[in-house]
Formats: sequence, C-alpha cells, structure tokens
Amino acid sequence: MRRSARHEKRLVLASHNTGKLREIADLLRPFHIEVVNAGALGLPEPEETGMSFVENAELKARAAAAASGLLALSDDSGLCVVALHDQPGIYSARWAGPDKNFSVAMQRVEEELNKCNSTDRRAHFVCALSLCWPDGHCETFQGEVHGQLVFPPRGSKGFGYDPIFLADGYDITFGEMDSDAKHAISHRAHAFRQMIDACFTH
Ligand code: IMP
Repeated sequence: MRRSARHEKRLVLASHNTGKLREIADLLRPFHIEVVNAGALGLPEPEETGMSFVENAELKARAAAAASGLLALSDDSGLCVVALHDQPGIYSARWAGPDKNFSVAMQRVEEELNKCNSTDRRAHFVCALSLCWPDGHCETFQGEVHGQLVFPPRGSKGFGYDPIFLADGYDITFGEMDSDAKHAISHRAHAFRQMIDACFTH
C-alpha cells in the first residue's frame, strides 16, 4: 500500500542541480503544492554513497526530510551507455568534474566510445524519484527513456547530456527539444507520472 501525499501543502526539492530543479518544478506546477528548494533552506548536499539510482535518490530525500521536517522529493538520474557497460550511470555528474562541465563529460563519453571500438551508440537515461517523509518512510519510482548518442553535441536547451541524446523515434536531440516535448517522453517524466498515480491521486 502506497502512502498518499495528496494532502501535503509543501514539499522540499532535495536537489542543488538547477536543470533538474527547473524540470521538477515544471512537472509539479499543476499540483499546486508549494515547492521549496533545498538550497534555499540551507540544506547540505549529502554524499551519494549508494550503488544504484534508487539508493542514491532515497538517501538524498531521507536526509532532506529529516533536516527540514517536510515531505522531500529527490531525483537521482544519469546516462547509461550500452557499449560502456552502462557507464557513466550513477557517476554521470562526476564525469563532468568539479566544475560540472558537461562539454567535458560529453567529450569523455565520445572518447570512451572511440576507445572501445564499438559502433553501438545505444544509451538510455534513468531517473529515480524518491518521496520521503520526516518519519523515514519513502516511496520511490524509476523511469527510463531509450535512444542513441550523436556527436558532436546539438542544441542548447535542457542540461547535462541532453545535446548528445536522440530518443528513439526522434530526429532532434533533447538539447534541441522544447521542455514540453521533453516532458512528454523523458525518464524523469515517466518516473513522475508513476509517482503522481501512486501518491497524489488518492
Ligand atoms: P545526480 O543525479 O545528481 O547524480 O546527477 C545526475 C546527472 O545525470 C546530471 O548532472 C546530468 O548530467 C545527468 N542527467 C540526469 N538527467 C538528465 C537529463 O534529463 N538530461 C541530461 N542529463 C541528465
């Protein structure tokens, strides 16, 4: 039995990533819940010590809920490249280095693909969303979107690895797509819809 969040009035977004904050705020807008960002509350960013997207999402939301006393929503996500055995995966943010430079990260993906001599360009984004209450209870959902990588990067919309990701059935990258179009098919939107059905509709 899922726990309902339908009557909650406020929610803290346990992320410091501006791209994710923007997308999650967009997705939450129709639900009229007051959204507070972890940064605005001065909450620290916990170390991501989990071995999966789900573990990392839960540890971030649990920490934010405990520190704020509010319902907390976190996102742990990343790009899994088939020919690289699903790397960078949970280390997607770290491949961008301390400066969070995603030109560097996308170039590294291209270099690693060239090194492994594979023509396989399949990849998928994964997003785990975790909703945790101050008593430690969590409800967690995972979404994916599958596609191909293209080089050089294309487009300046979105964030992170969006400019090299072409979702199956599309000929523009996530970096070239308007946010509404990305929200119709993205890994984050898939996880979000599951969360809404399970926790916000009854
Ligand atoms: P983390 O979840 O904070 O560990 O960071 C996940 C990283 O994965 C982000 O910094 C992005 O680089 C990448 N990522 C996750 N979702 C997306 C997306 O929707 N588009 C592009 N990159 C993404």
